[in-house]
This record gives sequence, structure tokens and C-alpha cells, in this order.
Amino acid sequence: VALHFAKAQHQCYALYDADIDHYDPQQIRLMAELRSAIAEDALVLYYQPKVQLASNAIYGVEALVRWRHPRRGLVPPAEFIPIAEKTSLIDDLTRWEVVAALRQAAQWRAAGMPLRIAVNISARNLQDRNFVQQIMEVLTQMEFEPDQLVFELTESAIMLDPAGAKRKLIELHQRGVRFAIDDFGTGYSSLSYLRELPVSQLKIDRSFVAHIAEASSAAIIKGTIDLAHNLGLRVVAEGVEDHATADALRDMGCDVGQGYYFSRPMPPEDLQVWWRQRVRE
Ligand code: C2E
Ligand code: MG
Ligand code: MG
Repeated sequence: VALHFAKAQHQCYALYDADIDHYDPQQIRLMAELRSAIAEDALVLYYQPKVQLASNAIYGVEALVRWRHPRRGLVPPAEFIPIAEKTSLIDDLTRWEVVAALRQAAQWRAAGMPLRIAVNISARNLQDRNFVQQIMEVLTQMEFEPDQLVFELTESAIMLDPAGAKRKLIELHQRGVRFAIDDFGTGYSSLSYLRELPVSQLKIDRSFVAHIAEASSAAIIKGTIDLAHNLGLRVVAEGVEDHATADALRDMGCDVGQGYYFSRPMPPEDLQVWWRQRVRE
């Protein structure tokens, strides 16, 4: 188990840990269930709006996966994504998500709601040799404008193999796909990649946004916004939970907000209602 893990992570060694052991009976069962869940469309995407702070106009949506489990109800991603990420199951899951999200976006577009749509991708997706090819195929099959598709990935996903990640990002970017750095500020990383990668959005992690009233967090947020703007990037603040935070972010020059203050992640039908209400207001 440790050997496989070390190889998968491109590390020289790894120590055994029950957490990395997908031979663990409980994990094997969960993975088998997840595999059939993907095949049987038992996963659902919820959507959370990203809102432009200056105009209050919708900027796009982020797709967040949930698992409609027959016994456990609606299971949040934190309970199954880490398990899927240990195996190639994450490749199937991500492909399923991209197809589902693009299909939804096409429906919204037909209903007069052209929305930029963001999908989270994992470090392991970038290590999959076929990833770029598969995404290109999906885009071609679905005749989707690639510049309306955003992939969100974390700093740590990039830093696992910066050179490989860069190559893949550039390939997809040439095809029109956009990229956002998720949870910015929480990973150990080098700022130089921001210059080198074809990234267009930077998402400030909600741990900073939650403490915006404190001088140190405010300084980090303001610094990040200025840095991003100087590099020509849009800044999205995650975890905006109240009016005061949205105002403070806007005053700091932050472009876009996302969080419970605007809306919780919701099923696509509800997003359509939410959108219609806002357009009418
Ligand atoms: P993330 O991409 O940073 O997603 C944002 C998470 O913050 C979501 O949790 C969302 O529900 C939550 N959130 C949004 N607004 C607020 C707020 O105002 N306050 C607070 N406290 N939380 C807020 P969720 O849906 O449970 O997703 C958790 C993480 O799971 C995501 O973090 C992402 O890393 C991962 N994830 C979700 N869906 C997918 C997916 O489809 N594929 C992959 N690979 N990862 C996913
Ligand atoms: Mg995200
Ligand atoms: Mg995030």
C-alpha cells in the first residue's frame, strides 16, 4: 500500500497509514458504491453563484458535487472526493462532472441564462495522461464554447508536479478553457507560478474572508487583491457570509464574491429561480 501511494505521489517513500489504504474493507465498499453511483447517475451537481461585487450582477456559477446515497442521504464531497482521489475513480468522477456541468450550462443558455461554469479538478486529474484529450473530446462533442468553462484547482495540486501541470494547463488554455486557483493562500507554493500559468481567477480562501474584520486578515486580503490585479487576474472571495464582508471586499477592490450571503449551493432548478428573481430586482 505504501509503495503504491509513494509512486502515485511521485515520492521516494511513504509510511503506511490506514487513511491511504484503499484495501481497507470499509473503503473498498465505499469505492464500489461510488463507482456504481457514477455509472447510475446517483451523483448530483449543486451550483453556487459568483456575484460581481460592484454591480451585483452574476459572474458565473461553481458546480459542487453531492452524492445521493440510498441510505446516507445527500453526502457532501468531503466524504468521498478524498477517497476517489486515491484511485483512478477521480478521473471518471471528473469526466462525469464536466459532462453534467456542460449539459446544464447548455440548458441554461437555451433558457436565456448564459452562465460561466466552474468545475473543481483534482491533482490526480492533472497526472492522468488522458485528461487533456478527454476534456477536448467532451468539448467537441458538446459543441460548448470553451471560454465559458473554468477549472478550479488548488495550489497544492499544481505544486505536486509544477512542470507537468503547466504543460496541461497551457494545452487546455489554448483550446479556450479558463483556470482559477482555488483556496489561495492555504497551500505552500511559489508565487512565480502565478506568472507562468495561464490562470485568470484567483479565489481567496474563506479562512481569510471569515476574519476580514481583523487587521492581519484584511492586510492579507488587500495584498492578494493588489497582487492579483497587477498580474491581470480577477479576484473571487470565497465564504462571503454577510453584508458587511461583501461591502468591505468591494471597498478593497475585490471583483467577485461567493458565499452564503449571496446564496448557498443549490440544485439547478433553484438557481434558475434565484437568477430570475435577481434579474427582475
Ligand atoms: P471549494 O471548491 O473551495 O468549494 C467551496 C466550498 O465552500 C463548498 O463546500 C461550499 O458549499 C462552501 N461554501 C460556500 N459558501 C460558503 C460560505 O459562505 N461559508 C462557508 N462556511 N462555506 C461556504 P462543499 O460543496 O462541501 O465542497 C467542499 C470542497 O469539496 C470544495 O471546496 C472542493 O474542493 C471539493 N469539491 C466539491 N465538489 C467537487 C467536485 O465536483 N470535484 C472535486 N474534485 N472536488 C470537489
Ligand atoms: Mg472550488
Ligand atoms: Mg475553495
